[in-house]
Amino acid sequence: MRLVRYGDAAADHGIGIEDDHGVAPTRFETIVELVLSGESPEPVGEPVNPTRILAPVERPGKILGSGVNFRSHLDENPSGVLPEQPGFFSKLPSSVIGPGDPIVIPAPERQVDYEVELAIVIGRAARAVPAARALEHVLGYTIVHDVSARDLQFAGDMVLGKGLDTFCPIGPAIVTVDELGDASGLELATYVNGERMQRGNTSQWLFGVARLVEFLSAYVTLEPGDVVTTGTPAGVGTFRRPPVYLQPGDEVTVEVEGIGRLTNPVVAGW
Ligand code: MG
Repeated sequence: MRLVRYGDAAADHGIGIEDDHGVAPTRFETIVELVLSGESPEPVGEPVNPTRILAPVERPGKILGSGVNFRSHLDENPSGVLPEQPGFFSKLPSSVIGPGDPIVIPAPERQVDYEVELAIVIGRAARAVPAARALEHVLGYTIVHDVSARDLQFAGDMVLGKGLDTFCPIGPAIVTVDELGDASGLELATYVNGERMQRGNTSQWLFGVARLVEFLSAYVTLEPGDVVTTGTPAGVGTFRRPPVYLQPGDEVTVEVEGIGRLTNPVVAGW
């Protein structure tokens, strides 16, 4: 099942079920409300004609980003070290935007880079969950564009480097776990102005979904609507020679097989 959060011309909004015929509304306004109800989503009323598809989770309690989780991304990093266990940073919940919303470069000196990532959306709360039971706590999967200001990140400021306003496009849909299982074997790609810059497959993950949930839930309680990203493959701009950074006027699309495409324009904020 594909779940979207939609808005229409009447400023109505809610969680809908998307299929080939359009978007059928449910009685839920947010993903968290849906999860906490314990119900499976049912269509109510006529299909709607949304004018906008919004970030499926508007304000996650936590957005936990995987550090290196693709061998190919490790290999392109001159100072990369093979991790023995998963590693995480956090993206600020206030950085979330939806499909089509602009990524704002706040100052010309920011070195802003793209990273396609499949993201886990937590359903049932998870605390000390073994890998074998991890998927029971996953609602489904979406795409997170882990936009990164490399100048800040490499100066040691992960909070700002990963958390600037608009630096977390999410969407366009959550595809439920019954359809995608453990999300292995899915192609990922990034396109900047139509040119493919990244390509990978989730079969190349160092740590899979079950291990990431097991690892994290040993330390923190994962709550409904929390978002956990799974790392990016090779091809990021900062490790190209010469480096490539996003510029005002660019359009970036991140794509994950089985979930869709998430496109955002890039604009100047100065
Ligand atoms: Mg990342």
